[in-house]
Amino acid sequence: MTDLLPSSTEVCIVGAGPSGLACALALAARQIPFVIVDALHAGHNSSRAVLMQASALEALGTLHPQLPEELVSGGIQSKTLTTIDRQERLLFRLRMTEIAAYTKYAFSLLIPQHQVEHRMREYMQGGGNSVHWNKRVIDVKEVVEGSQYELRFESGEILTARYVVAADGSKSFLRSFAGIRFVDPYTKKDAGPGNNDLSFVVADVLFASPLPTNVPRDGLQMMIGPGGVVITAPMLGEDSAGAPPQNNNLFRLYFGVSDTPPPSPDAAYLQAILDARGPGSHSKLHPVPQIAKVLDSSRYRTRPALVDRYVHRAKGGAYILLVGDSAHKHGPAGGQGMNMGICDGIELAQAIDEYRKSAFDAEKSGTPHDAVQIMDAYSTHRRSVAAQVIDMVESMTQMETGAQGWGPYFRVTALWAVSKVPFVNGVLAWKISGLGHAKKT
Ligand SMILES: Cc1cc2nc3c(=O)[nH]c(=O)nc-3n(C[C@H](O)[C@H](O)[C@H](O)COP(=O)(O)OP(=O)(O)OC[C@H]3O[C@@H](n4cnc5c(N)ncnc54)[C@H](O)[C@@H]3O)c2cc1C
Repeated sequence: MTDLLPSSTEVCIVGAGPSGLACALALAARQIPFVIVDALHAGHNSSRAVLMQASALEALGTLHPQLPEELVSGGIQSKTLTTIDRQERLLFRLRMTEIAAYTKYAFSLLIPQHQVEHRMREYMQGGGNSVHWNKRVIDVKEVVEGSQYELRFESGEILTARYVVAADGSKSFLRSFAGIRFVDPYTKKDAGPGNNDLSFVVADVLFASPLPTNVPRDGLQMMIGPGGVVITAPMLGEDSAGAPPQNNNLFRLYFGVSDTPPPSPDAAYLQAILDARGPGSHSKLHPVPQIAKVLDSSRYRTRPALVDRYVHRAKGGAYILLVGDSAHKHGPAGGQGMNMGICDGIELAQAIDEYRKSAFDAEKSGTPHDAVQIMDAYSTHRRSVAAQVIDMVESMTQMETGAQGWGPYFRVTALWAVSKVPFVNGVLAWKISGLGHAKKT
């Protein structure tokens, strides 16, 4: 069956990753008509995010209280985030339980991104909306004196919308169209491939049994030292027969690398890294875990980037509005990108709602419509959140890439010292959770 797009809508969300889906759920909750499209043929299945924080769970819970509960039951509650050195000495253990007074999600949830997206799509479908797949936006123009955008798709279809949500990821076509700069927040240079990019591989593997006890199955562990970070994140397996997910030897591995890895690293490449600098590699107490099977693997390069504004207004009042990776990107440390994107999407739906209401009231009372500040406030708030998160992620990344000099070791030691103090541990857990970034109402 051909999936035809309508010729017009009020809001068109371009991109059905976590940010676009969150915006869609939040618009549906406010009964605002929208269309959501994606260039892919179906939802992606690649290994990316695995850490979900309390802020995103809380934000999704405001839309559908059952949704975070279902996500939690499909994942592993990492109540601590542990960092060890090459000799497997504990450097620090961040206790996410310190935020229990503020949230029932006092942990980092280990769940693969594609499962989060899958659940969000299910909820969207429950509300009668679904993603239009295989719809790549290839051109945009202002029409009706700038009060609408006309989107042209690869399929030849055309759709007009007053609000276009740019949820189209870090290489955003819409951001480029809007002329919004995406710059490294430290060098202020345009983001693009460079020498200082962080290079890492991500792989979903099954470890052979028995799993050595120095690879925890109930939480994330990060091992740092010269050569780069080795992260082991346990996941629950999916059971095709529909039985509850099982906690087995399924792990997502993140390795920092200094060479150029193959596009899909194989078991031999991954095992060589584990043998050289993974758990057990420098300890006589435990063997190195053995990879029995690689389910998926990829390589990534990234560097931080942030837009100068999240909002582009056409002269007639049509908007291009950025959410998620189209507005910010950074390394995977601390598991923040998907979380921030989900919160962006939900906050944007609220801004669109307020803006529409204000326009409606102005029309009814015959007064001029002047609600530009609603969208500007969205832009200012979310940009400031992203700037803070990028700073935090960059400090964590410098700590993880402990190869260069003594600086990172001093930082880790300082962190170890302060993490002994419950208050400081609580502050760090609070920062990772993202709970402090919710919009003040
Ligand atoms: C290796 C790795 C590990 C990570 N780990 C974590 C983690 O643990 N926790 C965390 O919170 N974050 C993590 N992240 C970040 C997280 O994956 C991203 O922040 C998240 O995917 C961003 O979601 P998004 O919806 O903004 O963009 P995306 O997920 O990139 O989705 C964009 C969508 O737009 C579509 N699209 C693009 N162009 C067009 C077009 N022209 N027309 C139509 N559709 C288009 C694409 O097909 C895509 O589906 C990680 C990232 C990587 C790479």
